[in-house]
Amino acid sequence: MPRSEPIKAVRGVRDLLPRDRPLWRATERAAAEVAMRFGYQEIVTPIIEHVELIERVGEDTDAVSKELYRFEDRGGRKLALRPEATAGVVRAYFEGGLNQGPQPVRLYLVGPMFRYDRPQKGRYRQFYQLDVEAIGSASPALDAEVIEIAAGWLHESGISALSLQLNSIGDDVCRPAYLERLKDYYRPLKGRLHADSQLRLERNPLRLLDSKFAQDQPFKVDAPRITDHLCEPCADAWAHVRRLIDAAGIEYVHNPYLVRGLDYYTRTVFEFYPAGASGQQDALAAGGRYDGLAEAEGWPSTPAVGFAGGFDRVVDVMAASGVEVIAAAAADVVVLADGGQEIAAAEVARICRRVRSVAVDYEAKSLAAKMRSANKLGARWVVMLSAEEAPRRVARLRDMASGEQAEVSWDEVPERLA
Ligand code: AMP
Repeated sequence: MPRSEPIKAVRGVRDLLPRDRPLWRATERAAAEVAMRFGYQEIVTPIIEHVELIERVGEDTDAVSKELYRFEDRGGRKLALRPEATAGVVRAYFEGGLNQGPQPVRLYLVGPMFRYDRPQKGRYRQFYQLDVEAIGSASPALDAEVIEIAAGWLHESGISALSLQLNSIGDDVCRPAYLERLKDYYRPLKGRLHADSQLRLERNPLRLLDSKFAQDQPFKVDAPRITDHLCEPCADAWAHVRRLIDAAGIEYVHNPYLVRGLDYYTRTVFEFYPAGASGQQDALAAGGRYDGLAEAEGWPSTPAVGFAGGFDRVVDVMAASGVEVIAAAAADVVVLADGGQEIAAAEVARICRRVRSVAVDYEAKSLAAKMRSANKLGARWVVMLSAEEAPRRVARLRDMASGEQAEVSWDEVPERLA
């Protein structure tokens, strides 16, 4: 029979190996700590959702459909792997009755998201996000609060040089009139825009402002700015959010080209980049207010604000900026036993585990070879057991740093490891 090729990982996904995990764990811990410090509670929602939930609320419908991992299950249900968490978190807020309790409800989620994007460095088909949502309040103070959480998380992950970009995109009171102005501005320029932008001009003119096409760039500077055309409540909220961010000591720049493509996004939009990042780079975290989302999902109208941060990207930036996390050895103690002493070795290990992490080397190798492995694993102590020592319930304890070695009774070992 021909030998088949070994089966490799699916395109666009990757393993996070034990050597990768310390940096990840540091930023995951920072995320949970900062969120909890602000009174946010953890929520876990399923990775699979109904396709309709995602498509009804998805960003720029074409892009979402193109990037969506969709499939039919065995019962013929049309399902999707979630491309982001917010739609599911809002669904869970209503289905779980969280809308009945005190508002706002402050939630955070950490988990994998899936997008059928073209894989490239920093872009994966399975990637991981921190998602922070404050649901059930229109207060601009919460916009500033989630921005402070994002900044706190990135700082505590060791990324201190950050650039925060901020904008307001108004609401359904002031935005329609602004969009007419924007179209009036762009219509005479239509023939000079990229073909995709020409399509957007009537369908989704706001997206002309964040067009990445070179030929569209010269026209942006003279385009009308929505922050000059906000209704009074939106203008008040815009001023309020900026005052609160100033008071929190967080620097930002107003980026009038920062937008979102769907009607349910309202008012505040923001993105965090590493300081000095070029415009083509991915944001570390992106968020804003989405007062129209609950209704788009078919629930009662409910204001909310939040952000999603990308762990993959954050870990890359941590590594590039020299953030070091000391990787703990797999085990503090390695127990090495002569052949036939497995039961004794397991018992000594059990005793040592009261105070330390312990691995047992059960392999049929020489003591010298086992000692070399223990050293490579980074063990601080080695406990050796021979056929002669085991019946007397004694072992040799070696301190790997000093090389000191002594015979000790099994029950004394934990004190020596303290
Ligand atoms: P978004 O949900 O598109 O606003 O993205 C929020 C964050 O998730 C971004 O700032 C990225 O850091 C991260 N992200 C989005 N898509 C991917 C991807 N395909 N691979 C890795 N990280 C991603």
